[in-house]
Parts: sequence; C-alpha cells; structure tokens
Amino acid sequence: MPELPEVETLRSDLSREIVGKKIKAVTVDNGRWVRRHKSAKAFRDLLEGQTIKAVERVGKYLLIPLDSGNTLVLHLGMSGQLHRAKTPKTPKIKHTHIVFGFTQGGELWFVDPRTFGEAFVSVPLNEAGQAALQLSDSVVNAEARVLRRRISELHELGFDPVESMLTWEQFGYFLHHKPVQLKAFLMDQHTIAGIGNVYSDEILFAAGLRYDRLSSSLSTTEVRRLYRALVEILAEAIKHRGSSLADEQYRDLEGRTGNFSQFHEVYDRAGLACRRCRNTVQKVKWKDRNTYFCDHCQI
Ligand SMILES: [Zn+2]
Repeated sequence: MPELPEVETLRSDLSREIVGKKIKAVTVDNGRWVRRHKSAKAFRDLLEGQTIKAVERVGKYLLIPLDSGNTLVLHLGMSGQLHRAKTPKTPKIKHTHIVFGFTQGGELWFVDPRTFGEAFVSVPLNEAGQAALQLSDSVVNAEARVLRRRISELHELGFDPVESMLTWEQFGYFLHHKPVQLKAFLMDQHTIAGIGNVYSDEILFAAGLRYDRLSSSLSTTEVRRLYRALVEILAEAIKHRGSSLADEQYRDLEGRTGNFSQFHEVYDRAGLACRRCRNTVQKVKWKDRNTYFCDHCQI
C-alpha cells in the first residue's frame, strides 16, 4: 500500500506535470472508483473545464484544488497507481479506470487492480462546518488547516509529519496520552497521517524500539529518539522516491519503481542478518500484518 513517501513522490511529480492544465474530458469506466458521487457523470461535470491550481497532500490523500474552489481528492487505497500518458493514443494499462484528458494534451490515468482506491470532488464546507472544525485541528499548520477545512472527509486525520512539525513535547503528549503498542500508535491515522506497515517497522528499528512496547512506557530520551527516527526515515524515503515492494505495485507517474526498498533495515528481511548487530531479523504476525524487527537492537 502506498504510504506517505510514495504519495509525496507522486505529489511533487504531479505538481510539475499538471498544475495550470485545464481538464478537457474525464472518462470513468466503472462507477466504483467514484462511488461517493451519485453517478460518473456527476463526477465528470465537476471536473470538465476546470483548471488545476496546485497539488497538495495530507497523509495518503492527494488534494488537487480547482479554479471552481472545489478540490479533486485521490486516494490510491491498497494498490492504486497514477500514470501519465503523453497522448490519448498511448495504449491503456490494464485496470485503467479513470482518464483525465487535458486541453494542452496528455492524460493522467488512475489505475487500480483492486477496488480500495477512489477519486472524488470535494465541495467546500459551509461556515458552520468550518467553525466546528477549528476546535479539533489545533496541531496542524495553517496551510494544512485551510485545506482540511475545505475537505470535510479529512478533518479526522492526525498531523502530517512532513507538512507540520510538532515539538517533541507535543509528540510525547500523544504517546503518553493513551497506552497503545507503538506500531498501533504510528499507524493510527487519527494521530499521525500517512504511516503504514512498511514505514512503521523501519521507524521503530531506527528508534531501537519494539513494535509491542507500550507508548506510555517511553522515557524522555526514547520519545525524542522515536520522533527523530520518524522524521528522518520519512525524509530519506522521500529522497529515494519511496519503496516498491516485491510485488512492485508502487510505481511513479512514469512507471518507475521507488528506490528506498534497498535501504530497508528490517521490512521484508526476515531470516537475514540485521545490518547493525548481525542477529537474525524476526517476522511476527501482528494484527494480521507481517511485522519485522530485530530482537537485539529493539527493546
Ligand atoms: Zn540488530
């Protein structure tokens, strides 16, 4: 599943490719991918003739503001991809479900072999909705706050660790506030938006902490170490354009895989030697997910 670094890679590529372009026509082959709208036509009508103003991201959501004031929201789900095609004549990839064609030429395809991804156009909240939201979003930065107010579906997401910095004291407050296992803490989208199974394992290894340690048990030093690991791992992963796992499901706009997988210390390395201590990397099932860690380096 694409996580924050993969979606951020797509965001920065998309902002180079599609900002300023005008959507000429949209085709949808199956209403399932635009299921929040009453029909595919209702979805298309909100997009055709609109110019793309920016490409933003909160957690794993891509937010594309339009000149109408509405925002196109894309979520890749488990296995969605975005693909850029230079001309409408380019043969479609299998499972291309939505095609955005631009007046300046070129297309953007939404490709998804499964049905967890989706696209929808969000219309701004009314003023009452905005007032209610101001109470709950005090930790995110001003820019993200404005976007979230415009998009009601996103107001429950937690802080985005790339868009907004917390102090480590604030981070410590979240950790100590409710005792949960650290992997659950990192993956809870209501606290931190954008981290999934891969990066939670890598962050915990970098911090030297086990997946099942209770968040409330961390010392001040460990709180700082975890926050630093979180920021650094995500930044490194973005620098290397994300991770494509063994299934190579994640691809960038041009169809290229991400390079960060080769730097994974534990994820998908069960049975191999830990690069830090040479003990064997372990794999356990945790809430139906494969979880990787080093018993020696993580306490
Ligand atoms: Zn180790």
